[in-house]
Amino acid sequence: MSSHSADRSGPDTEAFVELLEDDAGGPAHAGGLGVWKVLIVDDDEDVHRATELALRGIAIEGRPLEFLHARSAAQAIEVARAQPDIAVALLDVVMESPDAGLRLVRTLRDELGRHALRVVLRTGQPGYAPEIDTIRNYDINDYKTKSELTRVRLYTSLTAAIRSYRQILALEQTRNGLEIVVSASTHLGRQRGLQRFSEGLVTQLSALLGVTPEGLVCAQAPDNGEDDPVIIAAAGRYSELIHRPLRELPGTPVREALTRCLQQQRSVLEPGVCLYFSAPSGRGIAAYVEAGRELEALDERLLEVFAASMSVAFENVLLYSQLVDYAYHDQLLRMPNRNRFIELIGERLRQPEGAVLALVDIDDFAAINDTLGHQVGDQVLQAAAQRLTEALGEQVVMARLGGDTFGVLGPESVVNPQVLERAFVPVVEVQGERMRISVTSGLVRLAADSPPGFELIKDAHLALKQAKQHRRGSSSYFSERMGVDARERMRLLRSLRGAFDERRLYVAYQPLVAMETRTAVGLEALIRWRLDDGRFVPPDRFIPLAERSGLIVSIGEFVLRNACFELVRLHHAGYSELRMSVNVSKAQFTDPDFLPSVARALQDARLDPRALELEITESVAVEDLEFVLGVLADLRRLGVSLAVDDFGTGYSSLGVLRQLGAHRLKIDRSFIHELDGAAAPVPDPQPDVPGQGTIARMVVDLGRALGMEIVAEGVETETQHAALRALGCQVGQGYLYARPMPAEDLLGWLGRA
Ligand code: C2E
Ligand code: MG
Ligand code: MG
Repeated sequence: MSSHSADRSGPDTEAFVELLEDDAGGPAHAGGLGVWKVLIVDDDEDVHRATELALRGIAIEGRPLEFLHARSAAQAIEVARAQPDIAVALLDVVMESPDAGLRLVRTLRDELGRHALRVVLRTGQPGYAPEIDTIRNYDINDYKTKSELTRVRLYTSLTAAIRSYRQILALEQTRNGLEIVVSASTHLGRQRGLQRFSEGLVTQLSALLGVTPEGLVCAQAPDNGEDDPVIIAAAGRYSELIHRPLRELPGTPVREALTRCLQQQRSVLEPGVCLYFSAPSGRGIAAYVEAGRELEALDERLLEVFAASMSVAFENVLLYSQLVDYAYHDQLLRMPNRNRFIELIGERLRQPEGAVLALVDIDDFAAINDTLGHQVGDQVLQAAAQRLTEALGEQVVMARLGGDTFGVLGPESVVNPQVLERAFVPVVEVQGERMRISVTSGLVRLAADSPPGFELIKDAHLALKQAKQHRRGSSSYFSERMGVDARERMRLLRSLRGAFDERRLYVAYQPLVAMETRTAVGLEALIRWRLDDGRFVPPDRFIPLAERSGLIVSIGEFVLRNACFELVRLHHAGYSELRMSVNVSKAQFTDPDFLPSVARALQDARLDPRALELEITESVAVEDLEFVLGVLADLRRLGVSLAVDDFGTGYSSLGVLRQLGAHRLKIDRSFIHELDGAAAPVPDPQPDVPGQGTIARMVVDLGRALGMEIVAEGVETETQHAALRALGCQVGQGYLYARPMPAEDLLGWLGRA
């Protein structure tokens, strides 16, 4: 199309004018099969005969004349109504009334809307000449007395009138055409789906060519180019063929035109009109419409304009479809995402009987990603998706809900723990390596009174968490009880917020002691929540809630500031060697204000940064190591030191541990408790003898190897104390030495110790 227009110098309008001045043949719309219709209106029968006689055998611009006759103005109106394509009317002015002819012109123009029709007035009486205004207002071509109309004069007058009729008609057609193009681009530009766009395309294109919609649109086949093009919209007798491959289209010429158009990626105007719309991806579409007649140069120009503006609309449609695709599809796994899944659940909820929704979570996926890299992680996801598809079959809809969690929805006969677990019994192959994947799943049965999709996903999530707590690789069904628990947690969160706002939270401090001397070397700040009735809510219960709700950021800052001020107070009281440990959870760590808030607390309390230690758990580092390492580096620059809390319960690799650059490792108290009951480990540990205390010993050795100090948490008995000392652990924390205590008790305890 562009090459076609490139050699035209002027703007479009010029080209149109050229076309109009081109004398080759009149428009096909003008009259039946290439004649000019001339209406003679006169109450004098002789005039009819004389006129016809005078013009017999004459052709104007290559077309013969066809005469229509009316003996009165009333009759003329009837004829005109029946014949929409009269080119010229030769009118007598005086008929039923002295101005019947003039009235007739008015009716033709104003009531019948015949604006292209040319009018030549004839009168026997020169005295009845109409006003100049009338001639102008009613667009009368010519005014002659009958005596003036000799054969030659009549011919010239008629020729002029017909020419002007043809031009007006062409202009009208152009305007209509352009109007269609403009309205089509506004209309189609707003279409959101390829399907709707294509349907509109067929309709608009038919309107432009003035034919009934008898066409179809094809899209090139997806992706590989080997597939057949598919029919995406069709009208008229082709409408049965929507979504069928093009090759099924009967009628070879149409099929060939479409195929050629798609292959050559350009419009083909023979036979019929087949327009090509290109797409940036290369998968353009071709729209075919039967023109029903030969195309004029004018039509071709209009089609060009049409195709150009529709291409823009087409690109918009594609862009929009792509956005929709991003919004509703997982790009890695090419399957519905959470948004789409929620919609699919909604559809299924109309007939919920027997359906089950399951969330299927890949076990230890974070560790896979972390140790083998994201590329392998992606492939594990793909392998898992494939496994699920194979195991569950076609009746099940599947989606990726984010990370390593899939959602599946289908009949209980397929979506159940047995099928899900069995699906992952055979190993999968990833990059040539055989890997065992296991999944944990949470299921919920759909029912008539089920909540909407997003709530059901939450329910399934609760069940999933329950299953994870029980054992990885297991499944559990959602029960009302879990929902109640969830609601209870919501209540708890609300009252936590209230407690925080009303300053009913406070910080307790637990001493850390040197193993040898049992004298305090530091304190750990631990949040406390006392209810009105004096009972305490344990941090293990409310900290996770605070983490998930984001409240932990404010609570964390509160603890940090209190701890810093408290330590300064103790320093001033003479305990200048004490350090302060403060727990930091992941949500705090990823908060952009975290680093500034630490700096502010130190500054406001005037605390030496070296006296502050932040405790993070291994899980903080598991997800986004790069980011975590950045924050840690910034903290080190501040002068703050770092401890890894609850060490041994997470999954972090040795490599990660080393990269964290922590100063201290805190052995989780579960490993300390293992030291109980057993005889105190022999001073010279034998690593090949597994047994109680093995992990504690390994951690101590590990810490030593990495040059880190080891802190034992939860030391409750002398046995544990002795065992840890023997292992070479330097610092202890536990009820044996001191329980966490309110700030006001600290000086007393320190004085006694
Ligand atoms: P954690 O950081 O590992 O804190 C040590 C926990 O062990 C404390 O529990 C402490 O009271 C308990 N503990 C100390 N010695 C013994 C002992 O001899 N035996 C037993 N059985 N337990 C002992 P607590 O105060 O209940 O805190 C639990 C967890 O809540 C903490 O574990 C920490 O992860 C979190 N937490 C507490 N305060 C905060 C806070 O201010 N911010 C954040 N982010 N987390 C906090
Ligand atoms: Mg801690
Ligand atoms: Mg701990």
